[in-house]
Amino acid sequence: MIIKAAVFAAEKHRYQRRKGFNQIPYINHPLKVANLLIECGENESNLLISSILHDVIEDTDATEAEVTEKFNSEIAKLVLEVSDNKELPYTTRKELQVKKAPGLSHDAKLIKVADKICNIRDFLVYPVDWSPERKLAYLDWAKLVVAGCRGLNEKLDQVFDETLEKGTNQLNAEL
Ligand code: ZN
Repeated sequence: MIIKAAVFAAEKHRYQRRKGFNQIPYINHPLKVANLLIECGENESNLLISSILHDVIEDTDATEAEVTEKFNSEIAKLVLEVSDNKELPYTTRKELQVKKAPGLSHDAKLIKVADKICNIRDFLVYPVDWSPERKLAYLDWAKLVVAGCRGLNEKLDQVFDETLEKGTNQLNAEL
């Protein structure tokens, strides 16, 4: 099922590259999110499968019905839970993530924290067309989302805090 999820996500994201990240294939990102959860001791299969699929509804033509049919309804619900509604303007979507974070399910919270860590790691390492100020603003926003999601996996929270601190120091030095 995990390989099936990786293949499904690879297929759905096949024409996408990470934003500005040296044309890195999109699939690298959800695989890293799943791998980080494993490194932090998570091993429940619905969680890992959903983490691999976490961007397919938001960013590709995949639908909740399709994910339900290929996997199951819990996985589809979880993926939907961590998906932004792309019909809303960017700022509204970002505000909604902060507002909705505390009410998310256990597994959705874990995916959110891992996703933010992986996004921050990416833009600290790979060139991206963002100023240090914009990256710092992302860190501030990610901290607000994670504030509503933390407390479920000590190691994951610790990795987030370390990534945030490292990012803040690195970006402040670039200002
Ligand atoms: Zn993501």
